[in-house]
Amino acid sequence: MNQLNATHDPALKSWVVSANQPDTDFPIQNLPYAVFASKDAAHDFRVGVGIGDQILDLRALASLAPFKGEAAQALSACKYNNLNALMALNTSLWSALRSELSQSLARGSSRKELLQQLLLPQSDAIYGLPAQIGDYTDFYISLHHASAVGKQFRPDNPLLPNYKWVPIGYHGRASSINVSGHSFTRPMGQMRPEAEGAEPRVGPCERLDYELELGIFIGNGNPQGRRIPIEDAESHIFGLCLLNDWSARDIQAWEYQPLGPFLAKNFASTISPWVISYEALLPFRIPYERSPSDPQPLPYLSSETASALDIKLEVWLSTEQSRARGLEPAYLASSNFKDAYWNIAQLISHHTINGCNLRAGDLLGTGTLSGPESGQEGSLLEMTKGGNQALHLPWGEERRFLEDGDEVIFKASCQKDHYPRIGFGKCRATVMPT
Ligand code: MN
Repeated sequence: MNQLNATHDPALKSWVVSANQPDTDFPIQNLPYAVFASKDAAHDFRVGVGIGDQILDLRALASLAPFKGEAAQALSACKYNNLNALMALNTSLWSALRSELSQSLARGSSRKELLQQLLLPQSDAIYGLPAQIGDYTDFYISLHHASAVGKQFRPDNPLLPNYKWVPIGYHGRASSINVSGHSFTRPMGQMRPEAEGAEPRVGPCERLDYELELGIFIGNGNPQGRRIPIEDAESHIFGLCLLNDWSARDIQAWEYQPLGPFLAKNFASTISPWVISYEALLPFRIPYERSPSDPQPLPYLSSETASALDIKLEVWLSTEQSRARGLEPAYLASSNFKDAYWNIAQLISHHTINGCNLRAGDLLGTGTLSGPESGQEGSLLEMTKGGNQALHLPWGEERRFLEDGDEVIFKASCQKDHYPRIGFGKCRATVMPT
């Protein structure tokens, strides 16, 4: 599975002309999955694959049954209104489908005429959640984020002693995960009393923040009681998406001890509609390294082959004012997944060491991905030093935390010389008043 193959050939071009543009998110080497509907039939959600600025309808393709063998088996798992059936298969079947889709969409394919009628422009589509998400776990794998935030919450003790041994995580809530393009109301909650001995305040959150994360969709799971060894862990990754783990910092600061995040996190999360298959990301695997001065991972978290991924992430912001004036969103920050302290295989291996069963369609969040430098912060909490330093937007407004009407936009891409850019699409959502 971790082998490059003909679908990764950088010279491959598609008969879908827009897929050959250098700035497209979806060249033929990407082939991301989504659940979409046509704007004309907005409830008829089905599985599709992105190619340039088009979507290929895989439910319609499945009904034509053009493939044989494993690819046919995988394609028949695409006739539903979510990706769970496809996710529940295995790397061999996913790979067979990707190979046939790649050949069918490649320039010169004899299937061009058949497939051409099954394309919908992405501008005519709306999206649904890619999967029915059974369980959602959020991790905390950026040491840079953990240190910066730890400093604010616990100045004397920023990094807790377990951090470099255990991939820290908590169980989040799946019901409030939405697909990009939605809006949600500013949460109400209970906040720390203003003076010692006073009652806690209750009201709309005043320190609303985003968290720049990647989501990992689990493919085939594990039976309860049987762990996933780290050597096998990557074969359980179906694909990755963008994830915004919206956070109410004032509610969080008051509620988080001793059991961790609760209402400060579970009111809304946003994911991008496109799931980039793990196979599409293989050219961007890089060696995972742990600094020799840090504790080395325990044997069950240690692997010669488990890798990091080179994925660049970006945060953009638009406000009511900027949109009214017709201005482009402001760029805020950028980080890279390769700067994370733990890799995905370690998360999966750790999550299942106790026999916890992961299931197809489960979502793991990486935790806020921040880098070591200024300008690489994955949250406003870090950018504004806990709200103490205002952020100046190019059109004259200031922000310490998010205001009503603010829209946060995440983007991500993988780039290297002599290889087409693999983009993630966008993950965007807007804050509405309480
Ligand atoms: Mn988070």
